[in-house]
Amino acid sequence: SPSRPIASVNPATGQTLKTFAPLDDAEIEQKLALASRAFACHRHTPLAERARRLQAAADVLTTGRERYARLMSAEMGKTLASALAEVDKCALVCRFYAEHGAGFLADVPVVTDATRSFVRYQPLGPVLAVMPWNFPFWQVFRFAAPALMAGNVGLLKHASNVPQCALAIEAIFLEAGFAPGCFQTLLVGAERTADLIADVRVVAVTLTGSEPAGRSVASQAGNHLKKCVLELGGSDPFVVLESADIQKAAQTAVTARLINNGQSCIAAKRFIVAEAVADTFEKLLVERFAALKVGDPLDPATDVGPLATPTILKTLDTQVHDSVSRGARVLIGGKALPGPGNFYAPTILADIPPDSPAYGEELFGPVAALFRVPGLDAAIRLANDTAFGLGASAWSTDPAEIDRLAEEIEAGSVFINGMVKSDPRLPFGGTKLSGYGRELSREGMLEFVNIKTVWEL
Ligand code: NAP
Repeated sequence: SPSRPIASVNPATGQTLKTFAPLDDAEIEQKLALASRAFACHRHTPLAERARRLQAAADVLTTGRERYARLMSAEMGKTLASALAEVDKCALVCRFYAEHGAGFLADVPVVTDATRSFVRYQPLGPVLAVMPWNFPFWQVFRFAAPALMAGNVGLLKHASNVPQCALAIEAIFLEAGFAPGCFQTLLVGAERTADLIADVRVVAVTLTGSEPAGRSVASQAGNHLKKCVLELGGSDPFVVLESADIQKAAQTAVTARLINNGQSCIAAKRFIVAEAVADTFEKLLVERFAALKVGDPLDPATDVGPLATPTILKTLDTQVHDSVSRGARVLIGGKALPGPGNFYAPTILADIPPDSPAYGEELFGPVAALFRVPGLDAAIRLANDTAFGLGASAWSTDPAEIDRLAEEIEAGSVFINGMVKSDPRLPFGGTKLSGYGRELSREGMLEFVNIKTVWEL
């Protein structure tokens, strides 16, 4: 498919803010050569020095938090409050790896037949990160902080609609004291990733994005026998059982579905509710959706901003219409809003037939799919009846039910009586078509290291 222009277009107004020419071959070559030289040096910097620079990156983020947050809102439409929280979370992940990275990377002694044997963790080299626009800072920092701490260097191919965020992130790491080449942004279209993955200096690739991008990057990486981590889409279930605190579940459901204007991989997308409490839950959800204010992401009163691009709006609208034409019922919303900007009415669908997009596909926008089930067995079956397996939220106060939900839901994470969220202390990632590999925590850091066995008689 033809590559998208590299440009900032304000999704609330449709106004083009800035366009960029993609890098040419010579510029790409220069940056790859610089990454390679930077790695030769960065891999030998003491861990304490890497930690100091990550703390400095956190300070740079905190000092500039208002500016970075406004940049995100302008380029992809998230509300200013959520953008500020995102900057803070990036500072947190930098500090987390600054504090815990050396411990995660310390040699691990193992008793064997040797006099001395241990496991050592060594950096691999330049890692390519292909990243999405939805959390334009967070997705990058959750890759970059552990990678830089481990002694790798990063090459960022960010989504084409957030080039200013991409450049700002490169500048943050430079300002924090990382040597030139430790973290570089490559303003290139998606069609250049194949050449980058093929380049002998690039040792591995991580992608956060859609399933088609995942298939493409994974096959290129496979072709060159390079390690690859994939964080792809999700259609996360939100299971509410009879014993749950229904008020709290309904309140959390709204946030869990509408976070980032509905464009989060781990947003709750399928609400699976026990028949006994379904009427109450549905009523509460509809009331809360009706009270939401859709509008300018910079207005503090706004709950839901625009979708990031006109294409996302169109895809979502088509999915809703297809679902309705197959028998789904609109409880509220169900349409794009008039005027400039990519605004979509917060929507709830019910009576969703299995052959409809709302049942089987990821809805990347403010549309909740509501399902009723008789009880726990049916809830687990429906929760697992999806090609994806990223996160799951489940609500119950019965310990036996909670055990079964935790054990039987097929997903990279299960959150009980809370919404799914990422946390630097916990591994994050998916199963099935949501991808493979993990980010965050020690597990995430060890994805891109040589786990070296040393054995000495
Ligand atoms: P996308 O279209 O897949 O884009 C993501 C990145 O991949 C962009 O940098 C894009 O570049 C690039 N890309 C697209 N097609 C490619 C290809 N064939 N080969 C190589 N690179 C390619 O995804 P998106 O629409 O921006 O993001 C939404 C998707 O990401 C959703 O499915 C969401 O669930 C998923 N997501 C997952 C996680 C997670 O942690 N699991 C987190 C956030 C989002 P261009 O912009 O230049 O096209």
